[in-house]
Amino acid sequence: MGGALKTAQSVDHLPVIGLDETVHDLSAHEDPTDEPLPNLELPNSPDPLKVQCVDDIISVRAAVLYETCLRQLLTIMKLPEDRCTGVLRTGLVCDSVAPFHINITSKGTAMSAEWICSNGHSLWKWNSQPVMKFGMQAGDFLLSTNILLSGNNYGKVSLLFKFMNMGMVNQNTFFTIQNTYCVDAVKEYWEERNSESICRLQGKDVVVLGDGRNDSPGHCAQYCSYTTMELDTKEIIHVATIDKRQTSWNSNIMEKEAFIQTVDKLSRELKLVEICTDAHIQIVNPDKGRYKDLGIHHSLDMWHGAKNLAKKISAAAKVKGQSILLHWLKDIVNHFWWCCKTADTKEHFLALWIGICHHVCNIHTWEMGSCQHGDLGEGLGKQWIERDSKSHKALVDIVFNKRWLKDVHKYLRFRIRALTNLMFMWREALRIAVTAVKGAEHEGDQEGDQGGQAELLVAGAGAGAGAGEEAGEGAGEEAGEGAEDNQDLD
Ligand SMILES: [Zn+2]
Ligand SMILES: [Zn+2]
Repeated sequence: MGGALKTAQSVDHLPVIGLDETVHDLSAHEDPTDEPLPNLELPNSPDPLKVQCVDDIISVRAAVLYETCLRQLLTIMKLPEDRCTGVLRTGLVCDSVAPFHINITSKGTAMSAEWICSNGHSLWKWNSQPVMKFGMQAGDFLLSTNILLSGNNYGKVSLLFKFMNMGMVNQNTFFTIQNTYCVDAVKEYWEERNSESICRLQGKDVVVLGDGRNDSPGHCAQYCSYTTMELDTKEIIHVATIDKRQTSWNSNIMEKEAFIQTVDKLSRELKLVEICTDAHIQIVNPDKGRYKDLGIHHSLDMWHGAKNLAKKISAAAKVKGQSILLHWLKDIVNHFWWCCKTADTKEHFLALWIGICHHVCNIHTWEMGSCQHGDLGEGLGKQWIERDSKSHKALVDIVFNKRWLKDVHKYLRFRIRALTNLMFMWREALRIAVTAVKGAEHEGDQEGDQGGQAELLVAGAGAGAGAGEEAGEGAGEEAGEGAEDNQDLD
């Protein structure tokens, strides 16, 4: 039901919505599922609308319905019959006359109205949503599938509905729909698409970008999914999910396990020439470790490198008397990006990289080289750092840090991992789920015209994909922030 809440919600009694990014919700309650609507047979009144094909639910516009507005409409509406034709216990025709009592009720995401005569006969029932073959309401069904397919979760959406005072799909109905129509359809579609991607990449030199993500931050995570994307097509070509139980309850090594599983599988199927990861301790070094014989180049994610450098500089700037470093932070990080982009070899990188130690002191030409920027002009307005001052020494320590320089060549291919394309999968998955429903609704009596319907399905999927893009951006964040500083990959 729509409309203002009669009383303010008590925050204490609201369900807790976690920070997790859970998409596939798991059932926690024993609520019964929604009962299907009974079929009504009323004289001269239209039957409830039935969902006959995919278009009946995908291409139909929907809106939020307010009870007050519905009542206004129903009050001025006349039924086709102005006398009740029901039969009384005495055997006589009821013959009660309009106006009849209108009872408005809410079920799931729908509202329904029932006209009742003074003798209690039900004259007609109307529902705000079409119903499917087995009595399920179209809105309940679409909301349930689209929660999953747009990357949301039931808890969050149901809280939103609670705040709006709108009827929501029962939790168990949601789980039933998710498990019956979505999970297998998404899985099958993923497997089909994945094997096509792998086939297309066979025989080529493949560069992949990988990133692990835990289901919750820190060390209490239960699952880690390691997602691998191919550089040119931006297609996700592998997802490895590791359960804490597979790593003897040690969540710290889950990402490493997932990485091993990924490289083991992909290196059997494809010619991997380069893997880009974050500089995470849990990732084994493909140059020296388990995969050295495969000759896979290991590169590091630029975002991670830049973030790491910025963290070090801001930490040094917090030391008393070194706050000037904060003014130079952006320039130093930009210089790092530029060096990585410009240099082809480690030597070239170093020659460019050390320039920052001179430049910040207003020295633009030195024994071994010079800055490559043009005239800075007088208006730069930046305070130069005094050579050999405490701040300068701190910067030199960072710039020439041995552990940093040891791995710096891994940034030189300038790889930036972006997993937003995952959202493409969601959009496609919606298409598949709807097709699966169609299969369920029309068992055995499927008709032709697949092409036309496919078009509509994609159009319907557009809204879901837009809503999910933010969730996809979030996927680039790492869960294990605590261990990120460590650059030691051995
Ligand atoms: Zn009656
Ligand atoms: Zn300079």
